[in-house]
Amino acid sequence: MTKSMEKIVSLCKRRGIIFPSSEIYGGFANSYSYGPLGSEIKKNVKDLWWKNFVRDREEMVGIDGPILLHPKTWEASGHLENFNDQLVDCKNCRARLRADHLVESKLKIDCEGLDDDAVSKLIAENDIKCPKCGEKNFTPVRKFNLMFSTEMAKTGEHSQAFLRPETAQAIFLDYKNVVDSTRVKLPFGIGQIGKAFRNEITPGNFIFRVIEFEQMEIEYFIRPENWEKLFEKWFDAMKNWCEEIGLSPENFHEYEHAPEKLSHYSKRTIDIEYDFPFGKKELYGLAYRTDFDLTQHEKFSNQKLRWRDEGGEPFVPHVLEPTFGVDRTILAVICEGFCEEKLEDGSERVVLKIVPKLAPVKVAVFPLMKKDGLPEKSREILEKLKIFGLVQYDDGGAIGKRYRRHDEIGTPVCVTVDYETLENESVTIRDRDTMTQERIKISELVAKLSEKYFS
Ligand code: ATP
Repeated sequence: MTKSMEKIVSLCKRRGIIFPSSEIYGGFANSYSYGPLGSEIKKNVKDLWWKNFVRDREEMVGIDGPILLHPKTWEASGHLENFNDQLVDCKNCRARLRADHLVESKLKIDCEGLDDDAVSKLIAENDIKCPKCGEKNFTPVRKFNLMFSTEMAKTGEHSQAFLRPETAQAIFLDYKNVVDSTRVKLPFGIGQIGKAFRNEITPGNFIFRVIEFEQMEIEYFIRPENWEKLFEKWFDAMKNWCEEIGLSPENFHEYEHAPEKLSHYSKRTIDIEYDFPFGKKELYGLAYRTDFDLTQHEKFSNQKLRWRDEGGEPFVPHVLEPTFGVDRTILAVICEGFCEEKLEDGSERVVLKIVPKLAPVKVAVFPLMKKDGLPEKSREILEKLKIFGLVQYDDGGAIGKRYRRHDEIGTPVCVTVDYETLENESVTIRDRDTMTQERIKISELVAKLSEKYFS
């Protein structure tokens, strides 16, 4: 059964996972804030990625580069010239629209590679109407660069700068400094997590396409003769990651870009697509960028960016780029985990079956009553459980209601403290997914939860 995006968005808002941003001013250009629980999920995603792809791999190092880079970067990378969408304005209702999307949805053809005039002609000749007002009164198609530009206070040659549209270029700019300051040997990779900005004309589908987002990217520097084998290795690592974050293999798919559709820098690209409730869409990508970027930066900077083997000829290393969107990861994880279940007693529950590693609240502790020393005992237990991450004390309402509250936000396990606890130092633990309950000794609690949920 397809899950309802409307219900997912509403749960995210209601429970402080993701809010529309600038809401008191009526919202702003499809941007979102991660609330108290969403920011925990986001941190968990980024920490897990960093551990998995940077810390745990001997041939990887990390950097944290700036958002504003030397403007020549974007000339060299091709973004100034090529990072464009084709747009039209409806002269009647003033809607700004992606011209290629208009054509694709009506004629089911791909506009990749067609120039502005050709797309204008397709719109004019095929009775394509404005989806907002139904009129056929468009401006000619024109290119629109997706980079956000900004003014530097200092005047002179470089008064205009750009917010980076991808984190990758900061890595290429730091290639030389990393090689000079560390003991890396080919093949090696540089990983980075950070914000990227794109002036998307038609943002939408919640946090799937936004103007400000985060990427987790790796530039993996290799000898060109090894690219095919290493490409496969990275693609396997990306699929393993998808499983580690709880996506079922039947919900994510490989999509190989046809050679004539590749970006200007790529010789091979495979995306991982995910079955979102609004359709199968790109989640991650893996591209073989050849030596395009470093060669371009050599040309534009007049610096040598070569690898030198002892006694061998210096050469520009080639690059594989596994790229992961943080926001799309969170969206996929939430869509995958969101379930509405009918229970035996006829009632319903909403449960977010998110892997414990990513769950915002790891454990909740409930005193059965707000008296007789049960709150104090609960807080004592809560302290011990802080080693797992964020844990919450909850004494509001009936126990059943508290379970439901934590099911909705994906808390993997709840611990209830009752009068028996005071007699024999035991508590009840209740599993989110199976809803089964078990009585165990407090002295065994940390080991048990560790083994079952957080190992
Ligand atoms: P799309 O075709 O959906 O616009 P893309 O191919 O332009 O994506 P890349 O340039 O490969 O995307 O960016 C790498 C990753 O960054 C994507 O796989 C995605 O996870 C994420 N990403 C790209 N654009 C956005 C956006 N506007 N909002 C949220 N995440 C994004």
